[in-house]
Amino acid sequence: MNTKKLPKVAISQCLLGDQVRYDGTDSASSDIIQYAGSHFNVIPFCPEVSAGMGTPRLPINLSVVNGEHRARRVNDATVDVTQALKTIAQTFIRSNSDIVAIINKKSSPSCGHLTTKLYDDSVLVSHSASGIFVTEILKLKPEILFIDDEQFMQAEKRADFLSGIKKALQEQGFSWK
Ligand code: SF4
Repeated sequence: MNTKKLPKVAISQCLLGDQVRYDGTDSASSDIIQYAGSHFNVIPFCPEVSAGMGTPRLPINLSVVNGEHRARRVNDATVDVTQALKTIAQTFIRSNSDIVAIINKKSSPSCGHLTTKLYDDSVLVSHSASGIFVTEILKLKPEILFIDDEQFMQAEKRADFLSGIKKALQEQGFSWK
């Protein structure tokens, strides 16, 4: 019989109620907090705080520059934090290689997954890019499962996410619930 194990799931820290957003607020989701606390081994993360950007901080957005996605300060493109966010993602995966899934904040230039606005010279060119941290995580660990805070509230999407976690654990020789 497989040994039971709580899956290691990383969660954007602002969703857990920590006031780490650029404006010093949080994006607490009581549903995520309640569910995660009893079903997951929760690993909180905030790439922007880990990158030393501080709280509160001036906001960043995602732009395409010479064909590459860059995270730069809104109204001051000379402040570019792309490499800092990539480095944080690399360190994060090195320390959490057994992570199976991420619950991420929708639309963030760091944490968004296929929901982030992308600009080209101040012109909005996409609503479905991914944040720099998430893009780097997927480069390093493509099998990782994602769900954002909005999708987590949708029964069907949540069920798919949870069954993906169960399958991933079984493949590692563990059972969950
Ligand atoms: S969305 Fe990500 S980078 Fe922004 S505050 Fe939340 S955890 Fe931090």
